[in-house]
Amino acid sequence: MPRLARSVLFCASLVLLLAYPRGTAQQSLLPIPDRLVVMTIDDGTKTDITQVAPVLRRYGFGATFYVTDGLRSIKRQDDSLTWDDIRELNKEAFEIGNHTENHPDVRTLSKKQLVTELEGIEERCKQNGIPVPTTFAYPGWQFNIQSAQVLLEKGYLFARRGVAPEFPDKGWGARGPVYDPAKDSPLLIPTTGYAGPKWGMNDLIWAIDQAKGGKIAVLAFHGVPYPRAPWVSTSPKDFESYMKYLHDRGCTVIPLRELAKYVQPASVSHVPLQQPKGSYRSLLSAEPKPSVQPKP
Ligand SMILES: [Zn+2]
Repeated sequence: MPRLARSVLFCASLVLLLAYPRGTAQQSLLPIPDRLVVMTIDDGTKTDITQVAPVLRRYGFGATFYVTDGLRSIKRQDDSLTWDDIRELNKEAFEIGNHTENHPDVRTLSKKQLVTELEGIEERCKQNGIPVPTTFAYPGWQFNIQSAQVLLEKGYLFARRGVAPEFPDKGWGARGPVYDPAKDSPLLIPTTGYAGPKWGMNDLIWAIDQAKGGKIAVLAFHGVPYPRAPWVSTSPKDFESYMKYLHDRGCTVIPLRELAKYVQPASVSHVPLQQPKGSYRSLLSAEPKPSVQPKP
């Protein structure tokens, strides 16, 4: 190619690049299909690998496993995933997400303490050849704007909170808001349903019915079962029937990070970080705290 033609081509490319600095990312998003479901499993209990992953695998579903090195005081050693297990889940293309090193209430942490909590898991992932997490689940559903701001500064793309303040949460499973990317910040994504003794098939159907018109159902599970935290336990039989239902209804089931195909991530989102509106508080922590011994 003659030098002049090369120069003209170079200048034209430069003009195009300058004219469309970030707009192209937005244009490449896929339309959000109806019955899009984000599947999340918190706490890194052993049943992730013995009960949950085999069922997800059978249906070809994606999911995020939110791991923590905390909760040792209420999980026996053999109730917890090992890093060998976590590597195995990653190898199977499941997402490994950050649930903090010690599972604290993030509202009680300074910015520096939260960064340390995040980096604890990030470092373990690096050591194990697992991609550094880009998504986060707030431990015990507790969140505040300061924590979301720290996640933004650390480059996290998406984060999942619980069902409050829009919906009441007394523990033991609950319904929550359907995720609306037009109004919910990618770092304050609500949970549409979390499984426990007071959440069942009707609640799952209710969640999926709302996943249409650009809205997305976000589900959260814990141990299957989780005898030491019975308020967020799901029986293997129930889990199997929930997943069969998602399959039979033709749901698209993805890990949180895969939202980036459909939704602007936090780094380029125009949805502000602001306190979600609602009056309900989480009366009980819906998840185990290291300092509390659950009733048998
Ligand atoms: Zn948790």
